[in-house]
Amino acid sequence: MPDSDAILDTVRRYWGFDTLRPMQAEAITAGLARRDALVVLPTGGGKSLCYQVPPAVTGRTDVVVSPLIALMKDQVDGLRACGYPAAALNSGMELDDLRQVERGMTEDQYRLVFVAPERLLTPRFLDWLARSGVRDFAIDEAHCISHWGHDFRPEYRQLAELKARVPGASLRAYTATATERVRADIAAQLQLDDPLVLVGVFDRPNLTYRVVRRVDTSQQVLEILRRHADQAGIVYCLSRRETEDLADWLAAQGLKAAHYHAGMDAGARRKTQEAFAEERLDIVVATVAFGMGIDRSDVRCVIHAGLPKSVEHYQQESGRAGRDGLEAECVLLYSPADVMRLEHLMERSAAESGALEGVTAAARELLRHMQRLAGGLACRHRSLSEYFGQDYPRDNCGACDVCLDEVEGIADATVTAQKILSCVARAGEGFGIMHIVDILVGAETERIRQWNHDRLSTYKLLGDTPRKVVTTMVHQLLDQRLIDRTPGERPVLKLNQASWAVLRGQRAVQLVQPKRAPVAKTRFDQDSWDGVDKGLFEQLRQLRRELADARGVPPYIIFGDATLRELARVRPASSAGFAAIRGVGQKKLDDLGPAFLAQIRSYCDAHGLSLGQ
Ligand code: ADP
Ligand code: ZN
Repeated sequence: MPDSDAILDTVRRYWGFDTLRPMQAEAITAGLARRDALVVLPTGGGKSLCYQVPPAVTGRTDVVVSPLIALMKDQVDGLRACGYPAAALNSGMELDDLRQVERGMTEDQYRLVFVAPERLLTPRFLDWLARSGVRDFAIDEAHCISHWGHDFRPEYRQLAELKARVPGASLRAYTATATERVRADIAAQLQLDDPLVLVGVFDRPNLTYRVVRRVDTSQQVLEILRRHADQAGIVYCLSRRETEDLADWLAAQGLKAAHYHAGMDAGARRKTQEAFAEERLDIVVATVAFGMGIDRSDVRCVIHAGLPKSVEHYQQESGRAGRDGLEAECVLLYSPADVMRLEHLMERSAAESGALEGVTAAARELLRHMQRLAGGLACRHRSLSEYFGQDYPRDNCGACDVCLDEVEGIADATVTAQKILSCVARAGEGFGIMHIVDILVGAETERIRQWNHDRLSTYKLLGDTPRKVVTTMVHQLLDQRLIDRTPGERPVLKLNQASWAVLRGQRAVQLVQPKRAPVAKTRFDQDSWDGVDKGLFEQLRQLRRELADARGVPPYIIFGDATLRELARVRPASSAGFAAIRGVGQKKLDDLGPAFLAQIRSYCDAHGLSLGQ
């Protein structure tokens, strides 16, 4: 059995990392021992390494089942850039290429072969497995097998047969979805045999989370993106139409932005994806269709312009920020109106598709958790950790709107809530939010005159408070279920038991308002830029782009931002110094060392900077 030195030697040689991340050693050891396992690590946690290392150490061939072709190609390109022999088989390939990979498989050229789930159990592939004796499988994105996850894929269900079809198979399933229910479902469906279950720490300390009331989507999005000028960002919207409108508007403001959604044809989608990967685009405004196929690790900002359908979705999508471990910001622009809209969509699609009752009920429950997280006022890092069943160790995370003290409680919140609720009571329960707010701020509208609502005692009762603020307070009452809203096209406000408890003074209320502009730099930002020469970093980024262009690969395959920052901090002068940088393995040292060393030297000469080793 290979020891930990053999593992570290391999990791150093191909990837240039000196240490393993939490759970990687255990997962790799299970792979070497051919033990079934379920590995749950957050996005960016380093799952790929867990299945890449065992075949490289032992010299055997393993199969990786992965749902997305685009991701597969990136992974194979990335591995080849490190000198690691890998190939993919999927329906998007030309026949010649397919045949060439099959030949390579027969000649035992690869340590890893990536396949789509629908190809795995074809006679042709099963035949190769039998002939080659390959029996070790990594199931990536394993949550796709469960409808309790956020991305159920029917073709994953076939994997339940894998154990029966390949005698002696050992399976290791990988996912970033940590709920207990999904975990149990994966193990049961794949028929894992006494699996080793490894669950990593879910918190992502390098992400700063903010939940901001949505009042003006485009302006708010622009303001956030300006905090990350010239950096990669993703904006998620609920509808295709919204992605198009917002992307056009952002482009008109001078940002390099484009839209992306499942309604575009495959060619247009691929073009956008490539432009983003190649850093010709900074911002993609997308529906949830965008994500699994991108591997750009330097996304500095993920904005949700609409509410995600579940905390799992939120974790997955916001998790695309900062996969290189460097600081990144995740902002959720929240309006409770989204909850109704999503419920409405859910019901419609259930009716159209004849979905099973259980599936719709599950979806509704997942949405309620998301609403609670968005509307709540607890530390976001803590709330996310606890949702995934993990304790959060700190009282103040230093990296969320709540802990950074960006929101503020309203002093006489209970009285304000009583004013709002009594306005609903007096107007009669047939009115929507807009009209109730109009009454409270004392607006002079046609409808108010028509209903004589300017004669109500609650007319202008909040005349000193800006309209937007009153609206967000009504939304907060809705989030806390202190008032209800009817479903349907023209929702109206309705008092419930909790409303009456507040009106009778039996229940206190907390409301918040934005307090100050977001803190520009968190502690994490400062640490990760410490000692980095930003001018040099930008030049190295430029060099990376040029080398990537020349080689026809995306820039992140050359080096990640973490490696570039370390280069711009350490400023190595020699090949040995370059080799010591994290992320520089043997092949990249040979391929890329000379160009980067020359660039560092000339920049340091020109700017009077000292060089390192
Ligand atoms: P996941 O698949 O879990 O989302 P990845 O496997 O893509 O995560 O890894 C995320 C990033 O972390 C990648 O850039 C990878 O190179 C890096 N990484 C993985 N393991 C290590 C390690 N032991 N040391 C340093 N960086 C690592
Ligand atoms: Zn916090």
